[in-house]
Amino acid sequence: VDPKAQTVGLENGETLRYDYLILATGVTTNYFGVPGAAEHSFALYTRAEALAMRDRLFARLEEVATNRPAAGISVVIVGGGPTGVEMAGSLSELRNVAQSVFYPELDPDRTRIVLVEMAEHLLTPFIPRLRKYTARTLAKRGVELRLSTTVKEVRGDGVIVNDGEFILADLVIWASGIKAADVVSGWGFPQGKGGRIEVDDGLCVKGFDNVFAVGDIALTPLPQVAQPALQGGKHAGRQIAALVSGEPTKPFNYWDKGILAVIGRSSGVAQIKHVPGFAGLPAWLVWIFIHIVYLLDNRNRFSTLVNLSVRYIFWRRHPVAIVGEVPTPAGQAPTQSTSTS
Ligand SMILES: Cc1cc2nc3c(=O)[nH]c(=O)nc-3n(C[C@H](O)[C@H](O)[C@H](O)COP(=O)(O)OP(=O)(O)OC[C@H]3O[C@@H](n4cnc5c(N)ncnc54)[C@H](O)[C@@H]3O)c2cc1C
Repeated sequence: VDPKAQTVGLENGETLRYDYLILATGVTTNYFGVPGAAEHSFALYTRAEALAMRDRLFARLEEVATNRPAAGISVVIVGGGPTGVEMAGSLSELRNVAQSVFYPELDPDRTRIVLVEMAEHLLTPFIPRLRKYTARTLAKRGVELRLSTTVKEVRGDGVIVNDGEFILADLVIWASGIKAADVVSGWGFPQGKGGRIEVDDGLCVKGFDNVFAVGDIALTPLPQVAQPALQGGKHAGRQIAALVSGEPTKPFNYWDKGILAVIGRSSGVAQIKHVPGFAGLPAWLVWIFIHIVYLLDNRNRFSTLVNLSVRYIFWRRHPVAIVGEVPTPAGQAPTQSTSTS
């Protein structure tokens, strides 16, 4: 982006001129300079990253089940926000329910799931009661919680935490922190914490009357979730329409619909304005309902509803494992095997 020339350059060499610009590039993973984190951990910011993480997990389960079933595996999740909590909850279900179907030779007790969080609680944006519920639920599902613990280094075989302890890990999942992509710093817009772009109360980039920033990339006090991005995008569009017709712009009024986090099947936490925070099955159902409502197209909504209902009712009978690339001895091509049952 060249704000002086009012142009956007594309990868293919094409240049687009703009009168007004909306920056909605989102953010990427922040490793906070922790040595080894970028090299040895799996982030969850893109679909490709999530698939790579899943492939690594199942490849490791296959390898351990085949070659050294007594060993078990260990997963460390770094970050106890909604992403880390959901990940820990899902992995505990994989271990407690599905693992004995796919890998009966592995003892579920030897699959270790450790959630490391530097704060003294999980889910910082939530009220203390819901944070405690989350910690209790994960602990009951067999997740080891390491609160008030900071990861200092990530290695190929595990992590080192602040007191020098080494936690062995076959897989390290990085669910902690976000920042603007490096390319953003070349655009000349004012950047604040995490490289996010500084905006005024109308989401206009400070010092640039014809440029707006919305969603995760905009530095606002709002949480980095979908609602501020959706509402911010609409607001920026309306401001541009107002500017084009010579009308005054307005500040962005965020309609806070509340926050939700899911822990696993039948378990979540919900904090909705004017309603006391609630947890468990009702919060989980609200979470599912909202995710279905926000899908595009009725066909998707209906098929997802049917699919999820069947999986909810018959979940112990229908676990699904999707195994990606399984490492083979040196010199042989890796096999791509996908299996479901
Ligand atoms: C694992 C995970 C789980 C989440 N779960 C939830 C949830 O349950 N509920 C919730 O509300 N929020 C959730 N969030 C947060 C939510 O996804 C974000 O807050 C939201 O997507 C932000 O929207 P955005 O439009 O700002 O950015 P994004 O949705 O990230 O969109 C930005 C887009 O811009 C593209 N882009 C970036 N740079 C460039 C460039 N230079 N040129 C062209 N295109 C570019 C990107 O590829 C991307 O498609 C989750 C996030 C993660 C990582």
